[in-house]
Amino acid sequence: MDTMEIPNFGTVAVCPYNNSHQVPVERMQKHLVRCRRQYPNAKMAVCPFNNAHHVPEQELSLHTKACPDRAHMETFKYAISTNRNTLPQTGVYVRADGTTVEATSPPMDEVPDNEENWDDMDAPRYDPQQYCLNNPIIRKATHMTASEKRRFYESERARHEMLKKRNA
Ligand SMILES: [Zn+2]
Ligand SMILES: [Zn+2]
Repeated sequence: MDTMEIPNFGTVAVCPYNNSHQVPVERMQKHLVRCRRQYPNAKMAVCPFNNAHHVPEQELSLHTKACPDRAHMETFKYAISTNRNTLPQTGVYVRADGTTVEATSPPMDEVPDNEENWDDMDAPRYDPQQYCLNNPIIRKATHMTASEKRRFYESERARHEMLKKRNA
């Protein structure tokens, strides 16, 4: 955004919707919200990192790559990843190519750069099968033939014996 020093007044910026609007920078954010409503057909997009950045739609992806507020969003993106199951609110997701999408959950096919990198930072997944094998829980033998059941219970007995010894 272009800014100008006005003597005895302060710094003003030119409104991207109408360049005859010269607005003090500290009031620009509010002005943009109101001004945007005056120009509903303006091909302007709001930066996902800072809602005081209104840029022409075709420049948004360029802007989001270079936006000085992007650093905050990297943290935010990480927070989304680790709390994915408990975050129902809308977030802004940055795709690999720098474009963004607003959604309540990461569009799975649209965030390919996130998945691999974060998997190893996640807590180990709860695996009921594994949990069962390592704990003395009685497993039920269902959908088995008689001989399969016999073998199953034999192996269960052996497994419980082993667990008893190990935990003794
Ligand atoms: Zn304006
Ligand atoms: Zn920005």
